[in-house]
Amino acid sequence: MTEASAAERARSRPAILTVDDDVSVSRAVARDLRRQYGERYRIVRAESGEQALDALREMKLRGDRVAVLLADFRMPGMNGLEFLEQAMDLFPTARRVLLTAYADTNAAIDAINVVDLDHYLLKPWDPPQEKLYPVVDALLEAWAATDHSPVAETRVVGHRWSARSYEVRDFLARNQVPYRWYLCDEPEATRLLAAARASTDTLPVVIIPDGTALTDPSDGELADRVGLSTTPAEDFYDVVVIGGGPAGLGSAVYAASEGLRTVLVERMATGGQAGQSSRIENYLGFPDGVSGAQLTDRARRQAVKFGAEVLTTRDAVALAVEGPARTVRFGDGQEISAHTVVLATGVSYRQLTAPGLAEFTGRGVFYGSALTEAPSCSGQDVYIVGGANSAGQAAMHFARHARRVTLTVRGPSLEASMSHYLIQQIAAVDTITVRPCTEVIAAEGDGHLERLTLRDNATGETETVDSQWLFVFIGAAPRTDWLDGVLARDAGGFLLTGPDLMVDGSRPAGWTLSRDPYHLETSVPGVFVAGDARAESVKRVASAVGEGAMAIALVHRYLAGH
Ligand SMILES: Cc1cc2nc3c(=O)[nH]c(=O)nc-3n(C[C@H](O)[C@H](O)[C@H](O)COP(=O)(O)OP(=O)(O)OC[C@H]3O[C@@H](n4cnc5c(N)ncnc54)[C@H](O)[C@@H]3O)c2cc1C
Repeated sequence: MTEASAAERARSRPAILTVDDDVSVSRAVARDLRRQYGERYRIVRAESGEQALDALREMKLRGDRVAVLLADFRMPGMNGLEFLEQAMDLFPTARRVLLTAYADTNAAIDAINVVDLDHYLLKPWDPPQEKLYPVVDALLEAWAATDHSPVAETRVVGHRWSARSYEVRDFLARNQVPYRWYLCDEPEATRLLAAARASTDTLPVVIIPDGTALTDPSDGELADRVGLSTTPAEDFYDVVVIGGGPAGLGSAVYAASEGLRTVLVERMATGGQAGQSSRIENYLGFPDGVSGAQLTDRARRQAVKFGAEVLTTRDAVALAVEGPARTVRFGDGQEISAHTVVLATGVSYRQLTAPGLAEFTGRGVFYGSALTEAPSCSGQDVYIVGGANSAGQAAMHFARHARRVTLTVRGPSLEASMSHYLIQQIAAVDTITVRPCTEVIAAEGDGHLERLTLRDNATGETETVDSQWLFVFIGAAPRTDWLDGVLARDAGGFLLTGPDLMVDGSRPAGWTLSRDPYHLETSVPGVFVAGDARAESVKRVASAVGEGAMAIALVHRYLAGH
């Protein structure tokens, strides 16, 4: 189902449901209701409590609204009261009416308290103008007085502290898929789980706009079901771009706008590291800063507008060179080939795995070059994890703004891992405290980081401290192992290009062309690198975008046979 039809359906009429095991009575009630309310309400008819509950579960998952429930009292299997009781769990604000024979009025009166019955109607209800419509009118009026805004977006039910629940939300957010988030102990979450026949043991549950409930879906399944493209439309392209950060998006925009058949392959969500940056202050043309997600979402739309295909949740795991073709294999074995490849796979900052930390990434917990956050820490307590130069430089930088900076180091001292000049600088700043043998073992907060638990590994003692800021500098790796043996890399795994490949004036081993590798070209002709994954790259958004554009200029040169 498309998003448009989901939105249309959500705007569609709320339902009045009637259930009676006697087919002729059931039809008659539905007929009378349709006559009076059919234009504004959808009349749903069922012939047993179970059938009616199935219909309600489906409506719940689709985000439909239910205004009134009319149930016959005497039904085999599940009587009207039992039905209404269960229906209440799904649609607590729907008004409830019991249809009874005269002999059952006492049971109906008792039910007023049990299922919070709004009304009981004696059969027969003729003429409906006198006996049925005034009752239903009053109930519809009461129902309409409360807010029942339709829900057309994806809904996620999960645990607050579950990493997978966070990942699913992060995945949807980073792919710009609007969703509503429900903690599993909220009443509406309980109703959604009941409708999906799911339990809190199998969270997260994602309900997509057509009403399908996905239990703990993989990223690939999620991408498929929310309408993100995961399968290439063609077998052969002019250029395959691997990685959807600024460098990959830059490549895709320039390649597609210059008429190249272009596909961009992204492991998780377009945006890369930049997509995780809450505010990029130094990107040209945005004097007030721009959120990384906004910047990269615009870039993705720009690439698509020019005709680039964008595939998400596809992980490139192998690159093969077959004559003039360059073939990229995905994790599931599928392959695509092209004349050229631009590798824009960036770096991944190593993550701390202590409980709670994943939840607060970007909401108090920051990885890598999040130094732009420093002014926001003004007058507050900041914690930094790491014992190398990057952590030390960050400590100096944050000390200019924060009230107190605590540098937590796993090892017994900084000596083994940090430059001497930095250790001296740190020692000279009163507001920086170094805590050796210390690890962050937990993070807590309400919506954002508020408290950290630290453990002294020498004594085993733990301490909980208040802090809204944790900056983690425990290294970044380019994750290029899958290219080992195919492309030349440096000791850190970064990809060597152009002049860096030349050793004593000699071209790299296996190089077949009578020219030197172009500036961003790897040890395999026609395979280029842009952005952070390249050895000696600058690790900035602007340079990544610039290299993405430049790689495409070189792709043209390569395709022209130069
Ligand atoms: C929190 C934070 C704040 C930052 N703030 C700034 C700032 O203010 N200013 C600034 O100039 N820079 C900033 N940076 C740095 C900047 O974001 C990076 O330099 C830039 O994103 C690098 O772009 P890239 O395209 O080379 O790589 P990345 O942004 O790392 O993107 C690489 C992409 O490739 C994907 N990928 C990796 N391997 C594969 C594979 N095998 N198959 C498919 N896909 C794959 C990844 O999932 C990722 O989406 C910040 C970085 C972070 C983390």
